[in-house]
Amino acid sequence: MKAVLVRKPYGEDNASISEVPDPVPQEGDLLVKVQYAGLNPIDINVVRNKTVYGLKPDPHIPGAEIAGIAETSGKIIKEGDQVILYPRWFDGTCKYCTSGREHLCIHGGIFGVLTNGGYCERIAVPEKMLLKIPEGMKIEDAVSIPVGGLTALHALNMAGAHGGQKLLVYGASGNTGLFATIIGKIIGMDVSAVSSKEWVKNYGATSVYPHDGIPN
Ligand SMILES: [Zn+2]
Repeated sequence: MKAVLVRKPYGEDNASISEVPDPVPQEGDLLVKVQYAGLNPIDINVVRNKTVYGLKPDPHIPGAEIAGIAETSGKIIKEGDQVILYPRWFDGTCKYCTSGREHLCIHGGIFGVLTNGGYCERIAVPEKMLLKIPEGMKIEDAVSIPVGGLTALHALNMAGAHGGQKLLVYGASGNTGLFATIIGKIIGMDVSAVSSKEWVKNYGATSVYPHDGIPN
């Protein structure tokens, strides 16, 4: 299959579309045909080998955020389902996993960093990392949930955000900022945006301020 492959000494000049072996599913894995992929800071840092984690393997396929179509069936996900990928490896058994903090798994890591990612035609991943895209949601919208959406949701959860509070979102027209705006609106917050884009009002911001014009 074709894949984006980055080689030492890394950087954009050392990334190219290459022919690589198809992934081989292990027990419990499903095959997913990649349809869409997000491009996030983590992916740029992978291409440049600037992550705080070591890249495996080398040469490396980047791509932490993907959506695609299941090509095999599991217990919940069936062949033909549109899916997004939770981009974290986790064992599901350690003290962090069993307390709802899979992102801290002691045997885990980021898909596309600890292992090859999804800038390729096909991936093989454990079914527990896949989520079925609901009816009515476009796959091209769903693809940005796993990194951009979860980053915003996690930040709001960490801050103890809840309805009735005021929320100020810097960079509200970016991927994560837009999700923070949308989620804030959904949970009943009064959302103000710092952005040069008036259209963020269409996503739930009631006020939009320029970077140098935020009221006290
Ligand atoms: Zn764990």
